[in-house]
Amino acid sequence: MSSAAPIAIIGGGIGGLCAAIALQRAGLRAHVYEQALVLGEVGAGLSVTPNAVKGLDWLGIGAALRALADEPPRMLTCHYATGQVLVDIDRSDTLQRYGAPYLQMHRADLHALLVARLRELDPDALHTGCAFRSLTDDPRADTVEIRFEDGRSERASAVIGADGLKSALRREVFGADAPTFSGYVAWRGLVPREALGGRVLSAGSAVAAGPGRLFVRYPVRHGALVNYVAFAKQSSWAPEGWSQGGSVDEAREVLAGFHEEVLAILAATPGGRCHKWGLFAREPLPAWVAGRVALLGDAAHPMLPWFGQGAASAIEDGVLLGRAAQASTSIAEGFRRYEAARHARVTLVHRESAAGGERLSGANPEKLSNATVKNEDTLGIFTYDPVTVALPD
Ligand SMILES: Cc1cc2nc3c(=O)[nH]c(=O)nc-3n(C[C@H](O)[C@H](O)[C@H](O)COP(=O)(O)OP(=O)(O)OC[C@H]3O[C@@H](n4cnc5c(N)ncnc54)[C@H](O)[C@@H]3O)c2cc1C
Repeated sequence: MSSAAPIAIIGGGIGGLCAAIALQRAGLRAHVYEQALVLGEVGAGLSVTPNAVKGLDWLGIGAALRALADEPPRMLTCHYATGQVLVDIDRSDTLQRYGAPYLQMHRADLHALLVARLRELDPDALHTGCAFRSLTDDPRADTVEIRFEDGRSERASAVIGADGLKSALRREVFGADAPTFSGYVAWRGLVPREALGGRVLSAGSAVAAGPGRLFVRYPVRHGALVNYVAFAKQSSWAPEGWSQGGSVDEAREVLAGFHEEVLAILAATPGGRCHKWGLFAREPLPAWVAGRVALLGDAAHPMLPWFGQGAASAIEDGVLLGRAAQASTSIAEGFRRYEAARHARVTLVHRESAAGGERLSGANPEKLSNATVKNEDTLGIFTYDPVTVALPD
């Protein structure tokens, strides 16, 4: 596939950057337009599962990724009140089993690696302060005109919408289906190790599972910080916005009855403030491609976070988009093959992620210990390799 004008990618999150690097790797010019003026410390912890690591290796950041991330040796699921271990998954043989490690890191560190890699390939590929507003497909000129909120415009041979859950591009091209509230609210924080007063936590990840409530924690930056997310079922989400400043006191109140270790981690959150937001999702679209426009990542298929596969799916999308572009003779063919390669996989992960949350936050956490469950391992989610999976004709 070749093009005179560059391909425009709207959104410089994990998915948009991976897509840009993958397209550059395929020999195409790809420019990323990100609304933020400055790229900063957005987000907190991120699990980068083996399927995603294989894609990031192909994009050329494998060594740097491993230097910054941590490998959890185990993943524990514990009873919310007693702390009793209900499920203990050994992750020490992940590399042998899946061909890549299971990593955990700060999202900002992964983002910075991707920015550096893209700039290495093309120093002018990333444009900040560019909030997408609308576009017009111009078949006579064989381009798409993109307009930004500040009145500027650009021409592109094709456009990729990687602008996340609230995608303006999805609304513009695929119609307005509002994301739906999942029934869960989350509180997220990062606690410096010193703030725990010498408390020693079990190595790797731990989930405290209680009826309608969950608490997940794992170390990032080689243990300098503990990343946590607390989830609770709630019947509605405050209409004033999607994201709010949350207070640790509120999170502690919601998790009343949880094990003392959980409450101590919450209490150590700097400033007593944490990030609070409602979890929203959408059904995957039946089609993500319309003419010279394609969607990717959360813009195409936002999913609930229970399997930690949202960013991983965006990474997989980026790799398959690049591979499809490389193997195709036109944009239409490349987009069609990208969508065909991704749809069944994403639909499976999307559906099973939603079910995973219901299972973990069910009424009887005790039953988790002897349940035969569908999880990331048994569903084969980590076995997937975006670099070698068949690309449909
Ligand atoms: C609690 C929680 C925990 C999670 N944990 C994990 C995990 O462990 N592992 C995992 O793989 N996933 C995880 N996820 C999911 C993951 O964070 C997302 O799925 C992932 O970030 C999606 O990437 P994206 O690039 O599609 O979208 P985003 O990361 O949302 O990026 C979209 C980008 O587009 C920009 N943008 C938005 N609108 C415009 C516009 N109009 N014009 C230009 N730019 C625009 C935004 O500023 C942003 O930079 C988690 C999610 C949640 C809620």
